[in-house]
Amino acid sequence: MTSASPVWHPFTQHAVHGEIPTIVRTDGAWLEAADGRKIFDAISSWWVITHGHRYAPITEAIRTETERLDQVIFAGFTHPPAEELAQRLIGITPPELTHLFFSDSGSTSVEVALKMALGYWLHSGEDRRHILALEGAYHGDTIGGMSVGARGVFNAPYEPLLFDVGRLAFPHPGREQATLDALEKACRERPVAALIVEPLILGAGGMLIYQPAVLAEMATICARHGVLLIADEVMTGWGRTGTLFACEQARIVPDIACYSKGLTGGVLPLAVTLCRQAIFDAHYAEDRRKTFFHSSSYTANPIACAAALANLRVWQSEPVKERIAALAGVHTKALERFRDDRRFLNVRQLGTIAALDLVVQDAGYLADIGPRLYRHFLARGMLVRPLGNTIYLMPPYCSTAAEINAVYEAIAAVDLDC
Ligand SMILES: *Cc1c(COP(=O)(O)O)cnc(C)c1O
Repeated sequence: MTSASPVWHPFTQHAVHGEIPTIVRTDGAWLEAADGRKIFDAISSWWVITHGHRYAPITEAIRTETERLDQVIFAGFTHPPAEELAQRLIGITPPELTHLFFSDSGSTSVEVALKMALGYWLHSGEDRRHILALEGAYHGDTIGGMSVGARGVFNAPYEPLLFDVGRLAFPHPGREQATLDALEKACRERPVAALIVEPLILGAGGMLIYQPAVLAEMATICARHGVLLIADEVMTGWGRTGTLFACEQARIVPDIACYSKGLTGGVLPLAVTLCRQAIFDAHYAEDRRKTFFHSSSYTANPIACAAALANLRVWQSEPVKERIAALAGVHTKALERFRDDRRFLNVRQLGTIAALDLVVQDAGYLADIGPRLYRHFLARGMLVRPLGNTIYLMPPYCSTAAEINAVYEAIAAVDLDC
């Protein structure tokens, strides 16, 4: 069936999807549809909105910036929002991360990270090109992002274009040592350029959580072998895991870090890739072939930078950490009742992210339980987008206990015939 709209939606099978709500207004944790329906945004509009929709300090900063600047070429030019944002980001991240490169999405921040890593080794005169990644990882939908991400139904058609990556088993609870041993072995077997990880939790891979101690040990092994550690904090950054960045919980400093999604509070697209001095220095040469050859048209868009600066001010001037802790507390309490509910398995939480798996016969991403659950929640005025049989919540920090508990009520009301 063809629809009247020419729009082709992301990750949407139009032949089976059904009704697509038209959102005409957003406010706090809520989406308002053209037909007047109100929908609670339990997944922060795909993990981007942090403080809430149209958070006033951010929207006001955007309005003000448009009075001064719009897009300005960033090759050989600069502007105050980018300079100030860069200074402040460098100021709140570990001192070892000295430089940052702007781009405009999480995927491009990962591409930039991979290119930085390969450029570093090439310009340092060492032949290291092999990349390691975790099984089940997600790092975006560009070719490089897909290459380091899990292979499956999402990228099977593009397989011929994807480059080879060494895979480490996910450090499932109780099986962490196997992952660490595999990392050690991979680093000994051949020269490795970099290991890329989603710190502490695989997002699109099913909200799978691993221990900070495992991440810390992975960092130690990488350092021992001179392997660059890339932390893809695109989802985990900006408070989702309970701390500003997930790496803080493992007390590690990656060599390269990617931030996007919540960087602007989720209001405008922007990304940064931070790196250590040595990586910048390897590209710093009179030989112009060592230039870092990457750009996007909208690199460091001034209005997006102004939104990110406003986000940083919110973090500085408002009790964001307290809000996050309170939200985490709501999850902890609400999850309790599901721990001995036999319909669910793997009840888990990391900061503001909560997840549980519905026990079903067919648990794959394409299992029809996913869309059925999606409709179950939408019918109750809630945006919840299960990953296969994994139901997760990742609400904006302005969500109230009552709003979140209502979603847990809807989870408790799930029946397999839904
Ligand atoms: C969402 C995500 C990306 C991709 O970000 P986009 O802005 O959608 O390109 C990359 N890595 C992780 C861990 C993500 O969750």
